[in-house]
Formats: sequence, C-alpha cells, structure tokens
Amino acid sequence: MSKHSKGIHLFRRRRQDDLLERSFVDCTGCGRSVYVFAEQCRSCGDSVQVRAS
Ligand SMILES: [Zn+2]
Repeated sequence: MSKHSKGIHLFRRRRQDDLLERSFVDCTGCGRSVYVFAEQCRSCGDSVQVRAS
C-alpha cells in the first residue's frame, strides 16, 4: 500500500483557492463568510448582499 498522497497536487491550485475565497462575502447579520451565490446566510438566515468591488 503506497502512502504517497495525491493530495500534494492541491498545493498547485492556489489560484483556485483565491477564486474560492473571492466567492465568499461577510454576512451583514452575523459576520460569517457566506457563499455569494447563496441567497441566505446559513447561520442567521440574513439575505446575502454581494458587494460590488
Ligand atoms: Zn449571517
């Protein structure tokens, strides 16, 4: 059984991580990170407002 992980390839995907981080906004209600395409915060149910930048 090989223990070499395929997960090392994940380290080469920093750009994708950046994109993912950009896909989250801080909830105006509770301050948690909410996916921008979600209509509501999963924590407090507040509507997500996408801030234009
Ligand atoms: Zn919230």
